[in-house]
Amino acid sequence: MISKSETIDHSSLRILFWDLDGTLVRGARYGIFKDYTVPMLESVFGTAGCLHEMIVSGMTDLQIVEEALRGEGITREQISARKDELQSCYIAEMKRATGNGAHVIEAMPGAREVLQRVHEHPRYLSALLTGNIKPAAYLKLEITGLSDFFQLPGAFGDESFDRRDLPALAAERINEHLGANLRPDQFIVIGDTPNDIACARHFGARVVAVATGRIHSAGDLRAHDPDALLPNLLDSELVMMVLDNL
Ligand SMILES: [Mg+2]
Repeated sequence: MISKSETIDHSSLRILFWDLDGTLVRGARYGIFKDYTVPMLESVFGTAGCLHEMIVSGMTDLQIVEEALRGEGITREQISARKDELQSCYIAEMKRATGNGAHVIEAMPGAREVLQRVHEHPRYLSALLTGNIKPAAYLKLEITGLSDFFQLPGAFGDESFDRRDLPALAAERINEHLGANLRPDQFIVIGDTPNDIACARHFGARVVAVATGRIHSAGDLRAHDPDALLPNLLDSELVMMVLDNL
């Protein structure tokens, strides 16, 4: 079978960098992630620091851990040194707290239809660009039935303490995967927070903000000047029109 990337000219391609939480998936209530990240930190570091009180939005998981534990005197180096242990504990606690995730994490309304439409469109390829650690991201895709739409390598929250690093990491992998040399403006970040907009700008990507997150309103997002702003993903025709104009 000839893949989509082989059948068309790379210059017309657009790579969609999808955020996960608040964009493609959501918890049944705010703060579900604390049900498993608090015990994970307590198990690995003996404390969850100030995680209970933190409002978390658009941060990488490594950044969340660093900010939660900073007041305990735990350093970035100490966190990096225990990254493998953190990841395995994270997934074990996540599965335990969510009963393998069913009914606790769900696809955002409209997400499946939009992913299906871009999947069928020759101009687009999809990748994940998320603050989740990689195994957590894939578990969420599996739980929500969205696993089939991501043909390209992405970038994840276990790779940096700063989301702004992620687009360049993913783009390098994608260029290698496709044998291409895509321009930064051929990538389109789609996310629900100012951090998504900031990481797109840092790399030179386009960005569509979607106001389906629990923290930031459409007005908050507009203030960060995304290339386009959508209320949600419910109108797939509108989403396609917005993307086609970028
Ligand atoms: Mg998000």
